[in-house]
Amino acid sequence: MDRFPSFHEKLRHLANNLWWTWHPEVIELFRSLDPAVWRQTNHNPEAFLKALSPSDIDLRAKELDLEGRINYAVRRLDELLKNETTWGNAHAGTLLVHPVAYFSAEFGLHESLPIYSGGLGVLAGDHVKTASDLGVPLVGVGLLYAQGYFRQRLDANGWQREEYRETNMDLLPIRRATDRDGDPIVIEVPTTPRPLKAAVWKASVGRATLILLDADVPENDEEDRTLTTRLYGGDSRMRIRQELILGIGGMIALRRLGIRPGVLHLNEGHSAFAPLEWVRRLMEENGMDFEAAVRDAATHTVFTTHTPVEAGHDRFGPELLWESLGWLAVRLGLTPAQLLSLGRVNPSDEREPFTMTVLALKLSRHANGVSALHGHVSRKMWNRLWSDRREREVPIGHVTNGVHVQSWLAPTMFRLYERFIGKDWHTGLGSREAWAGLAELPDDELWEAHQLMRHRMIEFVRRRVEEQGRIRGESAKQAAAAHGLLDKQALTIGFARRFATYKRATLMFSDLEWLSGLLNDPERPVQIIMAGKAHPQDEGGKRLIQEIVEATRDKQFHGKLVFVEDYDIGVGRHLVQGVDLWLNNPLRPLEACGTSGQKVVLNGGLNCSVLDGWWAEAYDGTNGFAIGNGEVFSDVPTQSRHDFECLTDVLEREVVPLFYDRDEAGVPTRWVKRMKRGILTLAWRFSSNRMLIDYVNRAYLAAAGAVSCEIP
Ligand SMILES: *Cc1c(COP(=O)(O)O)cnc(C)c1O
Repeated sequence: MDRFPSFHEKLRHLANNLWWTWHPEVIELFRSLDPAVWRQTNHNPEAFLKALSPSDIDLRAKELDLEGRINYAVRRLDELLKNETTWGNAHAGTLLVHPVAYFSAEFGLHESLPIYSGGLGVLAGDHVKTASDLGVPLVGVGLLYAQGYFRQRLDANGWQREEYRETNMDLLPIRRATDRDGDPIVIEVPTTPRPLKAAVWKASVGRATLILLDADVPENDEEDRTLTTRLYGGDSRMRIRQELILGIGGMIALRRLGIRPGVLHLNEGHSAFAPLEWVRRLMEENGMDFEAAVRDAATHTVFTTHTPVEAGHDRFGPELLWESLGWLAVRLGLTPAQLLSLGRVNPSDEREPFTMTVLALKLSRHANGVSALHGHVSRKMWNRLWSDRREREVPIGHVTNGVHVQSWLAPTMFRLYERFIGKDWHTGLGSREAWAGLAELPDDELWEAHQLMRHRMIEFVRRRVEEQGRIRGESAKQAAAAHGLLDKQALTIGFARRFATYKRATLMFSDLEWLSGLLNDPERPVQIIMAGKAHPQDEGGKRLIQEIVEATRDKQFHGKLVFVEDYDIGVGRHLVQGVDLWLNNPLRPLEACGTSGQKVVLNGGLNCSVLDGWWAEAYDGTNGFAIGNGEVFSDVPTQSRHDFECLTDVLEREVVPLFYDRDEAGVPTRWVKRMKRGILTLAWRFSSNRMLIDYVNRAYLAAAGAVSCEIP
């Protein structure tokens, strides 16, 4: 008997596991049923399947003869869930009984699940997907936001407006977690002035599970119900209470679900309260003393720090900390000073605020930055916590970030890899050998594929700009002018990232005359597509966006410089798949890693970047372009003048000539050679498979196997 008698039910089954988000053939099934509705529902299968009637879906599926493909997808998902011959089983067996609990304030899995803001969340999403692919036992723990992060709209003056939309939970692939009796679980964090309650939700990400906590329950009072409304919204008090739910609430939820993690991985300091709950259990339930319990919790905790920017580290005053965690201190017999000292570099400095990163460093035996350079910078930054040690002896290592290849790769490239590397090319992603077959890929074929992807991206950008014009109230005719933007053959530069000051989105605009010359060269035209959000409180960032939008309207840049609103995973995916060149010009060494450029590599785009973050260890002179040589000046204006000179230099002398140097068939062979060098030397190293394998070997196995009297 068929478990799912109708196509509609089979598709619902597929929609219920986020596994579909990295399987283009499943996405294609949904899209092909009704491309317009698929787009209108923001590529959300739950919403899509609800927008159509079950009988229409069955009829369409029959008409399109999708039966075989639907059955195949269902079988593959079922096989994945059953399969026990995984990398994880062979290499990380100790995690089977006590899995990794991966805590993160955001998870970026797909544009239709708005519980992320940017890079940190996308990294977490990629981490969980990879755990599923490799069969590494891991449970994600995060928060379910009612509104998520803001949607960006630009008004007629190019000023950013933040729009918060209520997420319809019925249209998300999540379900309430229930206890043994089938009752929905509500957890309680016993804080003051009153206990905080949260509902527990579950989502399936292939083989992995994601647990999400939601404070919007009737058991909470009105104010507390809003704690998980927005990501990174509100004041410090709201933030510390969110972090209480994430860290301590997350630990309580795991226990209620019968999950006893052997490793706590804190993705950024937001969740650093989690190991305190471990300490509490060992003291209250096992009778351990405080020092021993802290030592034990630390051996099981892995902490990844993500930024050298000071403002990126949460700091709280003593009153807020005591209000939130005083109850715990009292139960453990700690004085306020003892509690505070856990988050202070200098415990006797009463003016020093409580810093979540310091707490995380003190409560973890395995700490790392996210690139080799960032490891270095972090050791320097936190040397003061180990003042008796030399900088290189500070116990902070690094695991360079990587990206989940199948989530970011264009289907066109996927098929090329299948043909030239082998059908199972994606299972061997973590090693260099897997990619050797790429050498056989003919230049013209790769170039043709890339051109096609550029065309598709330009179509996407035109459509988005038209849509945004209409939303802003432009006439249909005005909005339709978007279809004349951009040239499908021109060298296309992409720049998409948060508008944080250190990322210097307007470095290119330092000399408008120069820029105009670059874009308006009749023989060798260049065009630029930009996107990115400024933090709601960052007026400076918003002014930069406005400056760019004004430039897009200037005659000399019009049609050649385009700003795409509302950067998210969907926009990102389109851009990284179609650009020729990805530009990255942060103030070194403030970009801890950066991952968007890694997504570009897989799709054959080239990086042009300051030697910061991942690019400092990735660039080898043949696989992309470098802006400058890593020089650091002590004052920012001098640095920016220098970097701008280097940028103009590399664009004029290397990038543009190489791109427009064509053979008789119109193929830029030297450029294509660089594309191949990029893929060959970088794709495997900066894949999340390599990243997760590093975490397993360098941290998870040691943490899981650490002596513990008993996993609490
Ligand atoms: C990949 C990604 C990021 C992170 O990219 P950076 O290079 O760190 O800026 C941010 N936002 C979105 C939507 C992404 O897809």
